[in-house]
Amino acid sequence: MPIRRLAETTINRIAAGEVIERPAAAVKELVENALDAGARRIEVILAGGGIERIEIIDDGCGIPADELRLAIERHATSKLQDEALVRISTLGFRGEALPSIGAAGRLTLISRPAGQDSAWRIEVAGGVVTAARPAPGVKGTRAIAEDLFYATPARRKFLRSPRAEAEAAERTVWRLALCAPQTAFRLASDERVVFDLPAQDEMARVAALFGREAANTMFALEAERDDVRLSGLIGPASLNRATAQLQSFVVNGRPVQDPLLRLALRLAYRDVIPAGRFPVAALRLELPDEALDVNVHPAKTELRFADQNGVRSLVIGAISRALAQPVSLSSAPIAALPNLGFYTPPAPPSQAARGFAEAELALASPPAARQIFADTASEAEVSQHPLGAPLAQILDTYVLAQASDGSLVIVDQHAAHERLTEEKLRAQFAEGRIATQPLLVPVVVDFPPMEAARLLAAAEILSRLGLEIEAFGPGAVLVRAVPAALKEPDTARLLRDLAEEFAESGAPLALEAKLDAALARLACHRSIRAGRRLQREEMSALLREMETTPRAATCSHGRPTFLKLSCADLEKLFGRRA
Ligand code: ADP
Ligand code: MG
Repeated sequence: MPIRRLAETTINRIAAGEVIERPAAAVKELVENALDAGARRIEVILAGGGIERIEIIDDGCGIPADELRLAIERHATSKLQDEALVRISTLGFRGEALPSIGAAGRLTLISRPAGQDSAWRIEVAGGVVTAARPAPGVKGTRAIAEDLFYATPARRKFLRSPRAEAEAAERTVWRLALCAPQTAFRLASDERVVFDLPAQDEMARVAALFGREAANTMFALEAERDDVRLSGLIGPASLNRATAQLQSFVVNGRPVQDPLLRLALRLAYRDVIPAGRFPVAALRLELPDEALDVNVHPAKTELRFADQNGVRSLVIGAISRALAQPVSLSSAPIAALPNLGFYTPPAPPSQAARGFAEAELALASPPAARQIFADTASEAEVSQHPLGAPLAQILDTYVLAQASDGSLVIVDQHAAHERLTEEKLRAQFAEGRIATQPLLVPVVVDFPPMEAARLLAAAEILSRLGLEIEAFGPGAVLVRAVPAALKEPDTARLLRDLAEEFAESGAPLALEAKLDAALARLACHRSIRAGRRLQREEMSALLREMETTPRAATCSHGRPTFLKLSCADLEKLFGRRA
């Protein structure tokens, strides 16, 4: 075949593959255009995860009628003043977004600059442009993208479920709203208002978008070094999360997902939060445009710092210093000596008859000096049951027992009970009889907006588990009923844990996986905490149930529920035998 130039439509489709790889990317480009246009208020309306429809309404400078045709042309931009690409102060500059969206789907622009006596409208669908004409419209711009990827079926195949695309698109707006607190933002997705925020200061914006728990505990941070200024809010170590979703980085006003910054944040928290957990932070960096290359990737989410080491040490240093401030974080707790408790004679005999899981969770007894119980260990109990009879509880967490074969058994009471509860709930669920307990006073729990949506998306599944929730304005969830088995759960904590459990980790969780995750979470909340002193009957009942429950040797998280030291092990440890 001879060499020929590609048609403009083809070129645009190829570019669309890079710039607009999913609806969230189109949302990002359109909102960035609105911000570049100086909008004071931006409204984003999504339908079907943005695949069906994305509508962005701004009150910015608008596009003059005679420039509309140019706006949707490739490499046409009003923004790039410095053609050497050194000082770029706008979010956009490549002139690729609008033609790409118009090549992959249908794009409508309706725009009216101040002083123009009516709005004008132009459409481009699959690369085909319809001539601009007058249309009704107020000052500013409405950009509507519909049927994304209908013209690029190859790309369409790679889209995830509308729910997953919606979450990604919503998170994109969440990030941009954090960049521009002075701009009012309203986001609705499939008729649901995700957030509706007035122009506000940075603190208030972070509070609104990170949720009340974060807002109450995060603290401000400021540092400067050479021409780089770092500011923002960071969470205390205790606010750590299961995912990195509550982290936002804004560099010179643009939202970035920069590996260098993420790593610096992680390193700064390394000594204070458990491995695998993520700190919460909203950080903003300002540096001279020359010290930054934003033209690294078509989607502009990556950038390159001229002085990488300088930026890294500024971030790590500032956060480490800030974390060292509050008293609670200043030093690791001094390890306590084992509190070896002996057993007291049984409390009310009636409790002895009950199964462990049903036993009332009695208040922890005050730290008693010494409790005797070796003499109450029944010889029959030792010989008749594989896990034997309880001898003592140590650290209010582990139960020691003498097994029928003479081994010493050490049970992690929380892990073991969690498994028992999970199996019980699972059995009840299989039989369709999970009892639900309506709350006399419904509880409202606040979340970052995206998490509320994620929970609500699972409302159906949760209701099958006896947990009834419904939307309660943006970012809040109303709890009407809880599984009866939970007795008096810490509802806020339970919901927060569930939201994290459902956090999208690659593919959206399948129904089965969601049920599993939710069951395990419920079990964990239902289960006795480590750190509670147990009655002897409770210990016995725990051992008896472990003997009859499937999978009782590991907890829901795969950790062992008990360890065993056989007579031979002990003899070896004491050097009595080789
Ligand atoms: P870029 O943002 O890189 O310039 P785009 O394709 O996103 O490229 O937009 C092309 C041009 O259209 C912009 O340079 C701007 O002049 C104009 N434009 C796009 N969206 C808006 C908007 N919401 N308000 C005002 N002008 C806009
Ligand atoms: Mg743009």
